[in-house]
Amino acid sequence: MTEPFIRNHHLNLIKNQGRYIQQSFRDVEDSGVMQAVKGQAAEHVKQALPVLTEEQEDVIDPLSDVETSIGVEAFIGSLQPYVEPFPILDKEQIGRLFPHHKKMEMPDLGDVDFAHRTYIGWNDGGHRKKFIVYDLDGEIVGMEGRYTPAKRQDYCYFCRELAPVMLVTFETHETDADNPEFYRALGHHICIDSEQCNRNISDVSRLDGFVRKVLHHG
Ligand SMILES: [Zn+2]
Repeated sequence: MTEPFIRNHHLNLIKNQGRYIQQSFRDVEDSGVMQAVKGQAAEHVKQALPVLTEEQEDVIDPLSDVETSIGVEAFIGSLQPYVEPFPILDKEQIGRLFPHHKKMEMPDLGDVDFAHRTYIGWNDGGHRKKFIVYDLDGEIVGMEGRYTPAKRQDYCYFCRELAPVMLVTFETHETDADNPEFYRALGHHICIDSEQCNRNISDVSRLDGFVRKVLHHG
């Protein structure tokens, strides 16, 4: 049995490609063109995934042979056993990531679908903080940013979709040996609704790079 190898953002990308194929079933009549569309979609998915084993390729390849819109849905359903869930965390584990916040508002973990998460994110309205928990190379890390309450429609830095966002500013752990007062803050527009962000995100590079920058992990 092939181990899970598809992360949430990969699955979102596969769903996007699936929608594109479904759209093409409606718009494209030429079967040769349709075959090319499906082949390109499968290729695009493979490029986004890390180097695949033969068994993993066998999981993805049927995308280039789907014949109907329902076939696309069935293909996406067939991926479920290969979806790598976010590590399941309880409130104590999350609390330990933020030792300075004894009274922070906790996410409602009962509502969190860990199978479909790239990160866990929630807002603490009382403290105007956004908390983010992420799996950085197998290590669960937490970071917090201060947000301004003004919301607007803009492109989210993490998922790159147009969505209601807020400006969140994170203090980095960068240091300067000559200046003990030194600190650098990084601000970005980020989805207010982290659930929605997790449904949108199809490329993890910006989020991953950002977490490394904030935590000053190489
Ligand atoms: Zn987003």
